[in-house]
Amino acid sequence: MINEIILAKYGEIVLKGNNKTSFERLLIQNIKRKLKSVGEFSIKSMQSTLYILPKDTSPENIDTFLERLQQVFGISALCRCAICKKDFNDIVKTTLEYLEDVLPYAKTFKVECKRADKNFHMKSPEVCTELGHEILERFPNLTVDVKNPQVLVTVEIRDTNAYIHTGNIEGAGGLPVASSGRALALLSGGIDSPVACYMMAKRGLQISAIHYVSPPYTSERARLKVETLCEKLTDYCGTIAFFCVPFTEIQEAIKNNCPEEYFTIIMRRLMMEIAQRIAEKQFCEALITGESVGQVASQTLKAIACTDAVCKIPVFRPVIGMDKLEIINIARKINTFETSTLPYEDCCTVFTPKHPKTKPSIEEVEKAQNRFNFTELINKAVENTTLIVKYAD
Ligand code: ATP
Ligand code: MG
Repeated sequence: MINEIILAKYGEIVLKGNNKTSFERLLIQNIKRKLKSVGEFSIKSMQSTLYILPKDTSPENIDTFLERLQQVFGISALCRCAICKKDFNDIVKTTLEYLEDVLPYAKTFKVECKRADKNFHMKSPEVCTELGHEILERFPNLTVDVKNPQVLVTVEIRDTNAYIHTGNIEGAGGLPVASSGRALALLSGGIDSPVACYMMAKRGLQISAIHYVSPPYTSERARLKVETLCEKLTDYCGTIAFFCVPFTEIQEAIKNNCPEEYFTIIMRRLMMEIAQRIAEKQFCEALITGESVGQVASQTLKAIACTDAVCKIPVFRPVIGMDKLEIINIARKINTFETSTLPYEDCCTVFTPKHPKTKPSIEEVEKAQNRFNFTELINKAVENTTLIVKYAD
């Protein structure tokens, strides 16, 4: 009987020195939350590796565990392996049995040995040679190819046991969610801002999201679309507090009082003002947007400077230097692309000027904005902001 186990290897956490334990604790907590609905399991940590042992070790269940674990930030690599005694005969027996569905159909292989336990009586090259020999005897179809093997038989000799596998699976990388603090993301229904959320969660931020709606110009369906995006993002970001801001009156006030060419830039400044108020209440220390230089009129250098002029906390724009195609590739990977491309309107497309200023100066924007005192409307929008929490799973 083969016993399978999953090893999760830390990424950057390894470099965290004295803080390592708190990162590790958070990672384990995030993993437990992520796997809770899949089934029972035990988890222990040794030598910068987590040993995750599902109670139900059927291959299908292990598959599901792995799929989930690939969405947990802070894990650089995963591998499913057979566990055996630290005894060469048992290593041979387990390898031949564990890989009996793989090796008969391959042409080339190579054995690699990682000896974390330096007290093991055989050195790594010896394990490779001897095990390679046994594999060749059993499977005459195989030859050794050290450069480009079809199957990389890996033996890891660790603290209490030896582990056999055929290579690592890529983990999500990054740092455990919530290890870097909390930030508020301006989440539209578009492609870019969900990707921005994913990227900042990867750096260990706990994400809250804020979305502006302008009924009747924007529909209920448009808001639901953003809720769906939020839900999908919980796969990677964990629990997300989602704030919905009624923005109609503000947009109408801009339209009725300010020069048309400045509509969008003023709107963006007011969005930022409201976001900061909510951020403060929610202990978020930064804002996140999906802006990318040059993509639209409000994302030129000058326009971004005008938006930033009202911001007192850092604004993170992780896709700022990325091409649309690069952003789309990530959106597909994190499964938000399909929802993002549903054709519902966004408040940004309401009252868009025919000829927006692409090179506004801060002074002229302030002058245009000062034609109306927005304070009361901002207060009202903040007061009427509603919260929906999206729980992971
Ligand atoms: P996205 O694909 O994220 O919608 P975009 O390229 O369409 O971005 P804009 O519409 O100019 O760009 O919006 C820039 C950023 O402003 C968005 O990435 C998002 O962070 C924020 N944003 C835009 N509209 C909204 C909204 N209705 N609610 C919350 N944030 C918004
Ligand atoms: Mg948009």
